[in-house]
Amino acid sequence: MNSVIGKLQTVQSRIAQACRAAGRPVDSVTLLAVSKTFPAEAVREVFAAGQREFGENYVQEALDKIATLADLRSQITWHLIGPLQSNKTRPVAEAFDWVHSVDRLKIAQRLSEQRPAGLPPLQLCLQVNISGEASKSGVAPEALGDLVIAVADMISAQRDGSGLGGARLRGVMCIPEAAGDEAAQRKPFADMRRLFGAARDRLRGHAPDQAADFDTLSMGMSADLKAAILEGATIVRVGSALFGARSAPA
Ligand SMILES: *Cc1c(COP(=O)(O)O)cnc(C)c1O
Repeated sequence: MNSVIGKLQTVQSRIAQACRAAGRPVDSVTLLAVSKTFPAEAVREVFAAGQREFGENYVQEALDKIATLADLRSQITWHLIGPLQSNKTRPVAEAFDWVHSVDRLKIAQRLSEQRPAGLPPLQLCLQVNISGEASKSGVAPEALGDLVIAVADMISAQRDGSGLGGARLRGVMCIPEAAGDEAAQRKPFADMRRLFGAARDRLRGHAPDQAADFDTLSMGMSADLKAAILEGATIVRVGSALFGARSAPA
């Protein structure tokens, strides 16, 4: 089972098993195929096997791939999962469907303002630096609640002004430090689930019209997707288990 179809089926059955172990419906978890460093043709193969959600880390690489795969644009949902600088927000707002790596209000505001009016709102997740690593981006866990409220206020103000919401706040994303066994892997994901719940409760009290949109826990990768699903992940982001090992560190 080394073919693309075989790898995709293997990952799908790992997700299904984890859902059963968690007592969750299989369709409560979305598989995001992380195609960073792999060429457009590799995306095309995985697409042909039935996959529709794809994640990219590097803005320029992603824009090139999205352009090459323009014939599939209406069928693929493109997610940016890598760090985003404020001078790169415009092409991202124009080309992607989701951004998982928002870590400050300014980025959310620019993305929302720059989202073209003819497109559906851009779907945003806030990245949380759950393991507190200096090398990782993301808002500090204790600052998440305030950022959720600030982004929700920004979205409300834009809606009032234009009648168009350029963005929706969908949830949170994290990349915990690698851990050995399943129990150690679950710990940061459990922390994330609690933070997510607390932020959602605050949003319900503050901007109830936006609380229903806040439904996404983007966490879990090739090595730890089971632990993430046991702790409530709704999107798992899987690269190497689908595409193979990456040659460049990424
Ligand atoms: C690369 C990457 C992934 C996928 O990692 P794998 O271990 O290859 O599955 C998921 N999320 C983010 C943010 C990444 O950068």
